[in-house]
Amino acid sequence: MISRFCPNLYFESLYQIDLSHLKSIGIRGIVFDIDNTVTMWGSDKVPQDTLKWLEDTKTQGFRVCLLSNNRKARVDSISCMLDIPSAKGFKPFGSAFRSALSLLGTSPKETAIIGDQIFTDILGGNRAGLYTILVQPLSTTEFFTTRLFRKLERIVLHKLACRGMLKP
Ligand SMILES: [Mg+2]
Repeated sequence: MISRFCPNLYFESLYQIDLSHLKSIGIRGIVFDIDNTVTMWGSDKVPQDTLKWLEDTKTQGFRVCLLSNNRKARVDSISCMLDIPSAKGFKPFGSAFRSALSLLGTSPKETAIIGDQIFTDILGGNRAGLYTILVQPLSTTEFFTTRLFRKLERIVLHKLACRGMLKP
């Protein structure tokens, strides 16, 4: 049961993700969460290093898209700025992940999701059969509801760590 919440990989930040490793295991498409994964929560600013890292994913031939639970106007604005299309839907629902897969033209096994939340990005990704990568949130500023979920997340992360299930 707890394995549903377990990411395939867990990193402090995006920059630690080895793109050549993803390629070597057959990943061709990457779905990015937005808030606290590529931007600070509620901010349109994307750190320069993140911009470069996102460009690297494209130049290395990965198909990429965004998938966020935030307002459409905000998602559209980030999508334009990064020149990365956005899929529709609400995580962790399967329809959101199917929308992302259809946008990328990849199968679940060929696709990774990178996000900072266990109960949306990782749970949804695991259920949809994607390769799931959890990163630590860029900031501690978040929706009130997200802050509540963080308390539960800490319990789940602790259990996963105790069982040796969290892999960098
Ligand atoms: Mg997020």
